[in-house]
Amino acid sequence: MKIHQQDVQTQRDAETVEVSIPAQRPKAVRKEAPPVPRAVPRPVPVPAPLRTGHRFLVYKQDPSVTELGARLVFLPSVVLNGPTDARVRTDLAGVTPVARNISGDFVFAPGSPQFDCAHTFAVVRQTMAMYERHNKGEPIPFAWNVNGNTDRITVFPHAAEGANAFYTRTGKALKFLFFTPEGQSDVLYTCQSLDIVAHETGHSILDGLKPGWLSADNPPQTGGLHESFGDITAIFLALAEPDQADALVALTKANLHDKSFLTELAEQFGKALGMPSGLRNADNDLKLSQVGNEVHAISQVFTGAIYDVLADVYTFELSRQQRTKDATIVLIETASALCRLVFDAIVASPATGARYVDVANKMLQVSASRGDPAIYRTFIRNRFAVREITTAETPLRDLMSGRMMMSDPAYTGDGQDVTEVAPHDEHSASLRADQDRSRCCGTMQMPEYQVVAPEKLARRGSLEDDDILRDELDELREAFSK
Ligand SMILES: [Zn+2]
Repeated sequence: MKIHQQDVQTQRDAETVEVSIPAQRPKAVRKEAPPVPRAVPRPVPVPAPLRTGHRFLVYKQDPSVTELGARLVFLPSVVLNGPTDARVRTDLAGVTPVARNISGDFVFAPGSPQFDCAHTFAVVRQTMAMYERHNKGEPIPFAWNVNGNTDRITVFPHAAEGANAFYTRTGKALKFLFFTPEGQSDVLYTCQSLDIVAHETGHSILDGLKPGWLSADNPPQTGGLHESFGDITAIFLALAEPDQADALVALTKANLHDKSFLTELAEQFGKALGMPSGLRNADNDLKLSQVGNEVHAISQVFTGAIYDVLADVYTFELSRQQRTKDATIVLIETASALCRLVFDAIVASPATGARYVDVANKMLQVSASRGDPAIYRTFIRNRFAVREITTAETPLRDLMSGRMMMSDPAYTGDGQDVTEVAPHDEHSASLRADQDRSRCCGTMQMPEYQVVAPEKLARRGSLEDDDILRDELDELREAFSK
């Protein structure tokens, strides 16, 4: 912007010279006057700004979170009318393709279907961009992007009527439903929630990374990892946005355990269902022994552990850096580093049947290998142990009595920097029972993940309706052969 202003100023100076000189000289002399240059050449080239990119107007949380409201965001990549790009397309009958405005931007009035298309596309894209940053800048394939396949995912902002949203591999789609909450007249569109869009996009990204994990034939904890990944994605996406991080620091006085828009997930949707603190709360105290085999509840145990680790690491980093760095910057950097740690740990976890302890151990090992202070591992071990996920290799005495040495980077509790722990209870229903997905989001309820075996899903590639019906079709084929 500054460069541009200088440009304008230089141009004005040149014009002033050109106009003023003739006016001061007699006509006879003017013919012999040397030509005046129109602009002064620059001695040093000025870098041109990025040529591509578009502004989008989005809800920063959802329409009910009025302190953040709707704001402009900038996506620095090529987006065609739709909105569509190389990975994502948008489909809303009678509305798409939505065209860019005269400035090349997707800015529309909140409440209009065009806004919903632009908002949903932008949040899906921001979520993908966040994980691509953690993937060394490389694109993350969708589950069907194998052998050169580049099929996009299709986003349906108003997919159908219903109080839900889901990702489907057979449909290669993210579908956001809408409904009228009981006793209300206004329709609630799930696509207008950053949390819900980030959650469902999280399912699609995790299905690309770990294609075997969505099958219901895995232990309940594997299902819990999928549900939790969606919620963690919504939290990390909010903390990757400086305005949200800044608002959170001010709102909570830098205490992540204070009530806030960050821990309350899908606020508007939750309120519509009579849940004043959102659909789920990341800052919970649930333990595995309290949740049985119900996957949605099991997921909250993992989400809560990760959230506690985030709050611990932030407290530590703030005490270490508060004299040299703004509290918001520390939060953004802390959250980004933890998001990358979780991402790397998940990538390194087993292809099927993954348990929480597997991800916890990978987090410990990745943390050690990348040179984090030992106190990071102490936080991770303690928070997973207190949730009854892992054994407490480090005594929990200091944590439970509030005597952790939060500002000592070498703090381990007992002098041991452990990077391998065991499951707290191998006979836990969350490891042994069948998955109960009755209270999960729409993704987990899809028949394709209920009946297709983990090994089949783990092979990636497109999934057809006949794959879901494979066993039945085989039986019929046998019956009709007699
Ligand atoms: Zn979900």
